[in-house]
Amino acid sequence: MTETLTQLNETSQTPKLMLGKEVAASIEAELSAEIQATGLRPGLAVVLVGDDPASQIYVSHKQKACERVGFYSEKILLPQDATQQQLLDVLAGLNEKPEIHGILVQMPLPAQIDSEAVLEAIRPDKDVDGFHPVNGGHLLSGHPRLTPCTPSGIIKMLDYYGYDLKGKNAVVIGRSNIVGKPMALLMLQRHASVSILHSRTADLGLYTREADVIVVAVGVRNVLTGEMVKPGAVVIDVGMNRLEGKKVVGDVDFESVAPKCSLITPVPGGVGPMTIAMLLNNTLQACKALNA
Ligand code: NAP
Repeated sequence: MTETLTQLNETSQTPKLMLGKEVAASIEAELSAEIQATGLRPGLAVVLVGDDPASQIYVSHKQKACERVGFYSEKILLPQDATQQQLLDVLAGLNEKPEIHGILVQMPLPAQIDSEAVLEAIRPDKDVDGFHPVNGGHLLSGHPRLTPCTPSGIIKMLDYYGYDLKGKNAVVIGRSNIVGKPMALLMLQRHASVSILHSRTADLGLYTREADVIVVAVGVRNVLTGEMVKPGAVVIDVGMNRLEGKKVVGDVDFESVAPKCSLITPVPGGVGPMTIAMLLNNTLQACKALNA
């Protein structure tokens, strides 16, 4: 994969790779500069229930990112058999804690806990994941406040690479509340015409072949292949599929799709780093709003 990416960058002008790692580093630098200039100390609390190894890794990445930019962070660990009430009590405390401006509950939660009830128990103005229905409503009404990190990171990345969504035909494959739906709304906000596809869509290619920009957030390898993409398209691959031996691949068949694209994200190193950068960004925005 690395060899392929290097070759693409060295031997041709197109496709250009959108490197989230690079964009995320520039966002982190801006955040550090802003907190140094303002003296603000944004605080993020990450709550982890149980000992799922993948969740532990995600939480530690988030804490390390806080350290890099100079944010305050807290990690709250609850056992796998914690009750819903225990978790709600923790959230009630964090909702009132002045040093904490952002609260995140690492998903998935154990089966005995109702995730929806938990998301709704976080104060909307500290909901830095942007999953609270109040924040979803603000986004739907065209006045976004705290928005989900992965789709807002994709918008930032498109801005960084100078891609204007206005008037474009956009397709989002996947309709989850954390990626697909908010992605579609954010692109609509930027004046794209958006189609949302999902597992019951009869013919994905019918839509993707007409698309100027395609976001794929499915969790199925090779769901988008070269013959489904028009020349010059912009393709963003959100998918993360772990193969045996721990290698991670996206949802896009990079080998056949990349040669047709003007811009494309690799996996890894594309969308992934943007999610954490936007979590930090949301935490600073929440801190500023709470201190206003
Ligand atoms: P999700 O909740 O499982 O949603 C998947 C969506 O894909 C659903 O809307 C589903 O349709 C649709 N779908 C499934 N199979 C399909 C098919 N064959 N053709 C068309 N649509 C299909 O997943 P998610 O949370 O949105 O995440 C999607 C992927 O992105 C996963 O691989 C996840 O690991 C990754 N992800 C990456 C990041 C990052 O930071 N890089 C962040 C979040 C997620 P239905 O609604 O009809 O079931």
